[in-house]
Amino acid sequence: MTSPRKTYIIANWKMNFTPGQASLYLQRLSNRVQASRDIQVILAPSTISLQPLSLQINRRQFKLAAQNFYWRDFGAFTGETAISQIRSFVDYAIVGHSERRYIFNESEKDICEKVAAAIRNGVTPILCIGETALERKNGETKSAISAQLHEGLLNVSAEDIDKVIIAYEPVWAISSNKNAKPAKPADIAEAQELIRKQISRVYGKETSENISILYGGSVNADTAAGYLEIPGIDGLLIGNASLVGDSFCSIIETAKGIRNER
Ligand code: PEP
Repeated sequence: MTSPRKTYIIANWKMNFTPGQASLYLQRLSNRVQASRDIQVILAPSTISLQPLSLQINRRQFKLAAQNFYWRDFGAFTGETAISQIRSFVDYAIVGHSERRYIFNESEKDICEKVAAAIRNGVTPILCIGETALERKNGETKSAISAQLHEGLLNVSAEDIDKVIIAYEPVWAISSNKNAKPAKPADIAEAQELIRKQISRVYGKETSENISILYGGSVNADTAAGYLEIPGIDGLLIGNASLVGDSFCSIIETAKGIRNER
């Protein structure tokens, strides 16, 4: 028996907003967005804003996600923050974002250790996977997605897989990339199917039907509906458009409208 999956709308603010600006954004958002059983709105601010926002946030209305952390739980790692140090502030953590992979050279080992560290600390990892423009051009889209999924989940047991969310984010579609262009629904549907098939082979059919798969890449208020209507896509990871309260609220409203029609 499969359980109905929630819709996730996630704001990845990246390295934007001071704690004061983040707090003001949250205050305005709180006045505009009603809590919903079917829609989970998640905010991923910079690490420095997690603690103050965790005191301000109504966790029935919104949850917080870490954008990054180090996978060891403590120790001599100057400048790093462990998920064990921030786990009381967050329910989710983004892992394997392409900006971490390609700007900060995070390896597959780092990513799979981070997925495991999040789970160990009671935090849901949102594992981002997706091919680069070059991989797509070379016809390596499927193998790139498949390898990242495999590597990212290497340490995840059958017992824990239901604690993981997957975000398909083709690198070439992320707005911070030069010449970024949004992915076509057909490509996203195909990637989603590939991910579920691979999860099914490793963890079984029921797990593959229960796991949440999101899309991220240049989504805005005008395009959100088209992506949310793709069968098997359970929500959106939003960068640029989440920095503007009006756009982000409009995307949340769109998600609500689509859920209500189901
Ligand atoms: C992201 O960085 O995860 C992302 C989806 O960014 P954008 O929406 O700006 O493309």
